[in-house]
Amino acid sequence: MPDRSALPRSVLPGFLVAVLIGAATACRSPFPSGEPAAPAPASADAQWHHDWAEGAVFYEVFVRSFQDSDGDGIGDLRGLTERLDFLNDGDPATGGDLGVDALWLMPIFQSPSYHGYDVVYYERIEPDYGTGDDFDRLLAEAHRRGIRVIVDLVVNHTSVRHPWFDQACCSPGSPYRSWYVWRPDDPGWTQPWGGGRPTWHRRGDEYYYGIFWSGMPDLNWRNRAVREEMYRIAAFWLDRGVDGFRLDATRHLVANGPGELQSDQPETHLYLKELASRVRGPHPEAILVGENWADSRTIATYYGSTGRVRGGDELPMSFDFPLAEAILRAVETGEAAPVADTLREVAELYPPGALDAPFLTNHDQERIATRLAGDPRALRLAASILLTLPGAPFLYYGEEIGLPNGPGRDDEQKRTPMPWDGSEPGRGFTAAADPWFPFAPAGSEVTVAAQVDDPASLLACYRDLIGLRHASAALAKGRLEAVATADPELLVYLRTAPSETVLVAHNLGLRDLSVRLALELGAPVVALRAPPGAGLARAAGGAVLGLPARSTAVWRLSP
Ligand code: CA
Repeated sequence: MPDRSALPRSVLPGFLVAVLIGAATACRSPFPSGEPAAPAPASADAQWHHDWAEGAVFYEVFVRSFQDSDGDGIGDLRGLTERLDFLNDGDPATGGDLGVDALWLMPIFQSPSYHGYDVVYYERIEPDYGTGDDFDRLLAEAHRRGIRVIVDLVVNHTSVRHPWFDQACCSPGSPYRSWYVWRPDDPGWTQPWGGGRPTWHRRGDEYYYGIFWSGMPDLNWRNRAVREEMYRIAAFWLDRGVDGFRLDATRHLVANGPGELQSDQPETHLYLKELASRVRGPHPEAILVGENWADSRTIATYYGSTGRVRGGDELPMSFDFPLAEAILRAVETGEAAPVADTLREVAELYPPGALDAPFLTNHDQERIATRLAGDPRALRLAASILLTLPGAPFLYYGEEIGLPNGPGRDDEQKRTPMPWDGSEPGRGFTAAADPWFPFAPAGSEVTVAAQVDDPASLLACYRDLIGLRHASAALAKGRLEAVATADPELLVYLRTAPSETVLVAHNLGLRDLSVRLALELGAPVVALRAPPGAGLARAAGGAVLGLPARSTAVWRLSP
């Protein structure tokens, strides 16, 4: 990894240079820290207009591992552009593409790390990934196919090598000192998620706060200048054409003490509302997705009020970490209760009209193919649950072909290069002899090429489910209503839109089931997706559902 600590002066944005000059003459920060937030009154009541995100299927891409275009072994934006037709070719008449509606690009801004979560320049594309022109072309080509693109925006912290931090730590009297969080002593706070690692790091005579590690100093969100700069950066990318942001580590913007006081603080909610209002005014079609890795009750608070602003006046979407774990546990144990219970919690705790963001795993978690030991029926069940739920489901690249982790527990092993085909040594990912990181060991069937024309493949299962979701207003946007059953292995729910109701049934267990449901069937039912042996029929006092072991069926109940 090249050393980018010695950044030339020219990387400083003009705004920043002006501030530095101003500070040099006035000898005083033009931005007093600790000033209370003042949400922009002009846009506080503006509404979101991101209907496109409701029911959409998102696909999380780690650019470094998706497709290399120039043979240096590193995935890049041109490579991703070349692969767009696999993700969605924009033509509903063709059936070979996955059909996703939107991409989430993990960090693409300039960073000294392989993952990019420590940014040194928020307005420049990481050189490993290409140029600004490459990014503009990716956006244009994605939009031409009807694919939206959201990008990771790391708002909680910067790289320790960011010029702001360089000024903050090393230029006495710099206004950037108060862009970070300092104190004269180490109070001994550790990371709130356990493990005992420190969060205060010595630099000179003082300590700065960095909740993740010393290389990522937390920004001081109490400082209005920091907030204004983040809003300006958000506007810069939205004006350029991105469709929204995945916001990293949003629970931790403000810390008021150790332990519980390092997450979910009132000021954090205040500033996220401010951020949302500043985005929503000029860009109501944008989406914001928060990483609030917490329980359902806590996640629910990040939507804010859905009464005043449809979808919420804070973050209009948050990843549903409890539901992800519940789906995996349900598939592992063969019992429906974890999912049913979590869906009930969501219904009870989330504000009305909140848009959920379910997923199975992401780049911070063990891949599902590893967790489920590559069991094809289990992987299909998990995909079938995910893609029949309300909200905007997120896939993690490689999940659709059953890509497992690499060996070992390092994060890189969750983010290995995409095996497109069986050609050695680059497997369609790169023309280089060595990719930036080794491929995860997997069977020859775990490639796109091996599955794309096989209707029985996991990839085909994902493609079919996404197609079904697009073809059904109820699956895409309908509300969910649980259907009680006496069998603990059965997960059944209705999805209802004004024009359509569908019944979704998953048999998580190892036995074929035939059970009675308290369900009045009116018009004839139409099987939208049903394995051999599945059936739904009217019976005295209700309906009888038959479903083979480890399978999913979907029926349309009314036209
Ligand atoms: Ca490359």
